[in-house]
Amino acid sequence: MKYQSFVGLEIHIQLITETKVFCSCPNNFGDEPNTNVCPVCMGYPGALPSLNEEAVFKALKVSRALNCHINEKAVFERKNYFYPDMPKNYQISQFEFPFGINGYFDLELDDGSVKRIRIHDVHLEEDAGKMIHDAYQSRLDYNRAGTPLLEIVTEPDLLDGREAELFVQQFRQLVRYLEVTDGNMEEGSLRCDANTSINLPGKGLGTKTEVKNLNSSRFVNKALTYEIKRHAKVLDKGDSIVQETRLWDEGSSTTRSMRSKEDSHDYRYFPEPDLPPFRPGAALMARVEEAMIELPNERKKRYEAELNLTADQAAFITAEKNTADWFEAVLAAGADASQAAGWLSGDIQKVLNKEGAAIDQSPFTPERIKELFDLINSNRISNNIGKDVLQAVFDEDKDPSVIVKEKGLEQVSDTGAVEKVVEEVLAAHPAVVDAIRAGEDKQIGFLMGQLMKATGGKVNPQLAREMIENKIKGSE
Ligand SMILES: [Zn+2]
Repeated sequence: MKYQSFVGLEIHIQLITETKVFCSCPNNFGDEPNTNVCPVCMGYPGALPSLNEEAVFKALKVSRALNCHINEKAVFERKNYFYPDMPKNYQISQFEFPFGINGYFDLELDDGSVKRIRIHDVHLEEDAGKMIHDAYQSRLDYNRAGTPLLEIVTEPDLLDGREAELFVQQFRQLVRYLEVTDGNMEEGSLRCDANTSINLPGKGLGTKTEVKNLNSSRFVNKALTYEIKRHAKVLDKGDSIVQETRLWDEGSSTTRSMRSKEDSHDYRYFPEPDLPPFRPGAALMARVEEAMIELPNERKKRYEAELNLTADQAAFITAEKNTADWFEAVLAAGADASQAAGWLSGDIQKVLNKEGAAIDQSPFTPERIKELFDLINSNRISNNIGKDVLQAVFDEDKDPSVIVKEKGLEQVSDTGAVEKVVEEVLAAHPAVVDAIRAGEDKQIGFLMGQLMKATGGKVNPQLAREMIENKIKGSE
């Protein structure tokens, strides 16, 4: 493409709080419509908002994790517009002095390189209600009106749809680690507006369009890819781009015009007279610093560098915080990192997927998994029997050693007992024995298989193999 493209995102996340941001109504998704409402969130005359400090704390946590400068005073403003889902006809938001400004996020690209994306600001606002349309009527549910919404605005530093998709994915992982939102895109806990412009190289930003309300990272990619191509076609014809807001239509995989884009002066922002400026004090900022955890990308790099995990293993384990925390608890119990990583991304995950269980709420406690590894590493059970024991730990919610004892799964390592079975197997397959004697060592695998079958997988494989080799080749 002969043009340069610029993409910026505005991401909205619903904060997890007990109550709404300016009143004490419950902040619950999925409740009976219009049950969580009061004079404040409905904007009745004379009702006064008061600021929810838990929402502020979470806004500051996100600002800090995005390396933002924290404003000494955060000011709330009224953003005036008329819309049926806005009972007050204005939205309390932030414009001049949001909580965080001038931050950055280090985005990991497909080739493993890191691109620094500048964050313009992080501001706190109230969400609007919801309109529900059907064939006969439009109805309004104000339960969501006044719930805390955090908006994160990037500079137009992203190149294209794919980079924007990666940003949404990695940002979602970050805010889930910070435990400020569940990030559930289907339920609207994380929504995204994407703006794009293109221009000839060196000419700077072009006229931008914005695609509203994208609720999956894949749609972000598709909508932007479509927009960039559409802009290029318009410019190629010698026409100019109309600055406007557009909607993504998944059915036709196209965007369509929604309305011409408002500028901020259209909203007539002015300071909210009922809420004084908020000054984050030293005590609150100390709490924020204390809540700063190792972020997913840092954790992933540490696993690769210090624990020698493969990039895939490290990415898998750090994808969700509860998995990574569980993994570290297994290491703290004394397990080997590569053994734990291998089992976690393999057999343990298989059982969890099949049973639809979360690791930190499953019978797989870190202590039990360490015990399972000990049984395997001391040759009391084979690796294969270990997999059966794992499933039994889930099914019966018992310790691995108890299961091994109850089911009689302990490996046979007694030389006399192994020798007896080996002799039986060799006697039953004389032709194979001859072949091995003639140099076809591969056939030893067949005899091992027969041996495992005869003992229900319980024979110590190392001992058995040595014995087979000795008996066949040692007697030459
Ligand atoms: Zn309320």
